[in-house]
Amino acid sequence: MTKFLPKKTLLLAGAGHAHIGMLRRLSAARIKDTNTIDADIHLISEQPQTIYSGMLPGWMAGHYQLHDISIDIKSLCVRAGVRFIQQSLVQVNAASNKVVTTGDELKNFDYDVLSLNTGADTDMRWLRDRNGYNEHRSDSDDRDANTNVIAIRPLSTFIIQWQRILKDAQSSEKYQLAIIGAGAAAIELVMAAQVALRNINRSHQVTLVCGENLLSGFNLGFRQRVIKQLDRHGITIIRERATDYRDGKLSTTHKLLPISAVIAATGVIGSAWTASTDLDIEGDGFVAVNNKQQSVSHPNVFAVGDVATRVDKYVAHSGVHSVHGGAVEADNLLAYLKDSVMKSYQPKSRTLYLLSCGDKYAIGSWGNVNLQGRWVWHLKKYIDKRFIEVDKN
Ligand SMILES: Cc1cc2nc3c(=O)[nH]c(=O)nc-3n(C[C@H](O)[C@H](O)[C@H](O)COP(=O)(O)OP(=O)(O)OC[C@H]3O[C@@H](n4cnc5c(N)ncnc54)[C@H](O)[C@@H]3O)c2cc1C
Repeated sequence: MTKFLPKKTLLLAGAGHAHIGMLRRLSAARIKDTNTIDADIHLISEQPQTIYSGMLPGWMAGHYQLHDISIDIKSLCVRAGVRFIQQSLVQVNAASNKVVTTGDELKNFDYDVLSLNTGADTDMRWLRDRNGYNEHRSDSDDRDANTNVIAIRPLSTFIIQWQRILKDAQSSEKYQLAIIGAGAAAIELVMAAQVALRNINRSHQVTLVCGENLLSGFNLGFRQRVIKQLDRHGITIIRERATDYRDGKLSTTHKLLPISAVIAATGVIGSAWTASTDLDIEGDGFVAVNNKQQSVSHPNVFAVGDVATRVDKYVAHSGVHSVHGGAVEADNLLAYLKDSVMKSYQPKSRTLYLLSCGDKYAIGSWGNVNLQGRWVWHLKKYIDKRFIEVDKN
């Protein structure tokens, strides 16, 4: 007599770049009727839509509408034959193969295999007094101590906060916005913000507070091109570290600046749930994974993108690695379920990075080769749209 084994449960937590790729793949396999995965698949995500970070500065600068930069995760799940669960992950108990989530109520989910792609939080440790800071604040009438300090992540909250900034700027004579951060995201944000605020009122001003190591991962030529673009936009650069914000004043190492609001793009730190998990954690709260994107402590748990850190080599936290690492991870999830051989993710030695400069202009870097111009912005737009519009056709 044939014995039927119960189907395994594959739980996908978070709708980051990697899981979007996985859902698209499952959806394509379903259309072609080549579905090879014999498991019940569930996806847990905080929101039914996810915002694509690569196009966020373009939205701020007015080049895109919100729907242009959003991916409809819920519909993608339906097409992929995946159950969508709108909840937020709060605990992973890997010893008992369980996760706890919150939303309208606390829930528990069992899994056979878990894949984590929940991204990371903004590192707000620079802010001396975090008492009044609430990263998930979205109520525009709530204005206590640090309401005007806005973290770039989660993006869904930032979207609401940015619209409040524009509203406040519209009713101010001189609105002073500071962006804190020294990476590519901070640079794109500062130029996008300057274009948006200048469109409202010529006397509004945006300042970049970046410490001493602006774009430290990029070559000198690229950094020089970026500084020229910041100058072109009339952006003030303060090469000091920000330390606190209160009563409308931003403290840096040696200065006290009158600032109406602050946007923090100050790097990433592990999400709160990583503090209480039994998974092995590395550095500032990232799930420790091997070259197969597999947890080093629990082989049936995989993690990819900003939530994870490779233990064998340095791989930067970026959308590019989430997409490419995610494609390998998806193969490995299938292989793990079938008990077959897994692959390793080998990042390419050169990555194309395209940085938008607020108006329709961009700078690119590919290893030591640098590019710039309006055509680079159009190239970026083409690549971004190709990523986001796959499901819209
Ligand atoms: C303005 C800006 C521009 C950028 N531009 C680029 C670029 O051009 N190229 C590049 O390579 N990188 C870029 N980055 C970096 C890039 O955004 C991140 O590295 C990338 O988003 C990480 O992808 P991810 O797949 O790990 O997760 P994310 O894209 O962060 O997605 C995580 C998802 O999980 C969900 N989630 C989070 N927590 C939970 C939870 N507890 N429970 C359930 N769901 C949860 C979130 O809502 C989100 O949908 C940029 C970043 C910013 C801020």
